[in-house]
Amino acid sequence: MCGIVAYLGEREAQPILLEGLFRLEYRGYDSSGMAIINGKGLQSLKKKGRIQFLEEALQSAPLPGKIGISHTRWATHGGPSDENAHPHRDQSGKLALVHNGVIENYHSLRTRFLAQGHTFISETDTEVLAHLVGEHYQQIPSSDLNRLENALKAALKEVNGTYGVAVIHEDHPNLFVGARRGSPLVLAIGEKEHFLTSDVSAIISHTQKVVYLNDYDVVSVQNGQFSISSLTKPHAGYEITEVDLADAKAEMGAFPHFMLKEIFEQPQSILNAFRGRLDTEEYAAKLGGLNMTPQELLEIHRIKILGCGTALHSAMVGEYLIESLAQIPVETDFASEFRYRNCPMDRRTLVFVVSQSGETADTLAALREARRKGFRALGICNRVGSTIARESDGGVYMHAGPEIGVAATKSFTSQVMIFTLLALNLGRMRFLSASQGKEIIQAIEKIPSQVEQILKLSDSIKLIADKYKNYRSMLFLGRQYQKAVAMEGALKMKEISYIHAEAYPSAELKHGVIALIDEETPTVFLCPKDSVYEKNMSNLQEVKARKGKVIAIATEGDLEIAKFADDVIYVPATLEPLMPLLTVIPLQLLSYHTAVLLGRDVDKPRNLAKSVTVE
Ligand code: GLU
Repeated sequence: MCGIVAYLGEREAQPILLEGLFRLEYRGYDSSGMAIINGKGLQSLKKKGRIQFLEEALQSAPLPGKIGISHTRWATHGGPSDENAHPHRDQSGKLALVHNGVIENYHSLRTRFLAQGHTFISETDTEVLAHLVGEHYQQIPSSDLNRLENALKAALKEVNGTYGVAVIHEDHPNLFVGARRGSPLVLAIGEKEHFLTSDVSAIISHTQKVVYLNDYDVVSVQNGQFSISSLTKPHAGYEITEVDLADAKAEMGAFPHFMLKEIFEQPQSILNAFRGRLDTEEYAAKLGGLNMTPQELLEIHRIKILGCGTALHSAMVGEYLIESLAQIPVETDFASEFRYRNCPMDRRTLVFVVSQSGETADTLAALREARRKGFRALGICNRVGSTIARESDGGVYMHAGPEIGVAATKSFTSQVMIFTLLALNLGRMRFLSASQGKEIIQAIEKIPSQVEQILKLSDSIKLIADKYKNYRSMLFLGRQYQKAVAMEGALKMKEISYIHAEAYPSAELKHGVIALIDEETPTVFLCPKDSVYEKNMSNLQEVKARKGKVIAIATEGDLEIAKFADDVIYVPATLEPLMPLLTVIPLQLLSYHTAVLLGRDVDKPRNLAKSVTVE
């Protein structure tokens, strides 16, 4: 969370930093700020609220200068306010720092500084880090040519926690330094200019040449040159990568929100997830990025899939897919739980971590934990070159294009499609017959046009949203594959409309949840014509018997269900394992329209940020 942009070059920094912040706003948006060095020294401006407020403030008080750092914040320590916004300064006031992450031992450091007479303006952990770097800077002789870099290194050695940081100092108007541990940071190299950013999309209009920094890397840019060293050991070298423009640039086009645009992109993004990966001769899938031989794939005894939020829900669909098509036992877990728990695992377990951004802090930590314990761990990510993509033993890219809306939509369907391909592949090596493989491939090929068909229902789904928008609480129920879809639907509803929503496997209803059913608590029932249809219908009747209103997601042609449900949204028929790719679409649209009708900020819902790079 939070976005950093730093600039040093021959152009005015302010417009470049501001444009970068707008592009990073999805990462955090409770406050923002900028510090620039010019003839008057170090000048900064910070504003609570959206970046637009910073932009307005800069119009009346511009910050001229050719070097600067900037930040859009997602608060962890101290509420959103002008004071808590970054950049923060050290005690001398000459050093400014922006930070993404959490300094876990900030309290003891702060106490130490307070005892020394330091004054703090904010409640943040970041300001303490600024003071720490400043203190080390004071202790290093001015003859040291790398004084600021060495001060940063010395400070970071005292710090527990995570950081992506950028630092400037009034006495060094041609220098910025930065470092990362746990939070993403990219150095971008332009024509006589350099940038440091949390995400390449911030600077992509200026240059495509980047170095993805690794944990413990420290970067210094001075007088048109950069150097990268390591905090802990001799540096292993770096690679300059050319970023794919299409991967990094996102424009909203004619859509009112990124979320709606991304929902409507799904026919294409799903196609991108399987394009070139279907083997229509062997009726299997080609997933070269797994970096595993057929023999190694055959030796897998168990699979563990780790993720957070939507990624975990796609993992849950993956669990059912792999277990039913390949008959390999699969377990899913919250990445945040796995990383701290003693989890006995068969040595022949293959681990998958799922993260759209490839930077999710908990998922990254889970990946590292799995690899530390000697397990092969593969990533399913969207962002090419992201930390998870680089640190995993292999994996599969989603190729979904940038996802900017905070509520994940197209990344869910891309992940589910990738799990379908994996399950098909692993299945074809084991029990799945060629004719079953063929049937699955044919069904996969139809999915994009079927999604297209569901998207045409957007306006009628809006009418349903209007009918239910004022309820305070909703239930989402489904069985088997649809259980995970119900969880994803409830998550969408909560995160963008702020309506309380809970999801359960339908049969759990009678074990407690049924107590919530009344006229004021509508239920979204996922009951396509699948192997548990009849069972689901009984649960639906149980809800109706208690005067609960029902919105059913059903298979086209199922007229029976319309007799019982208050509203029905139909999706085309497909194979049961592929049905989540279709049933999730009406739920995305339902939450989207509900949120818009309620006047919510759909792309930037309160308290959230897109890429969760803090623990
Ligand atoms: N911990 C810092 C703060 O609360 C940075 C949070 C972030 O990564 O946005 O200000």
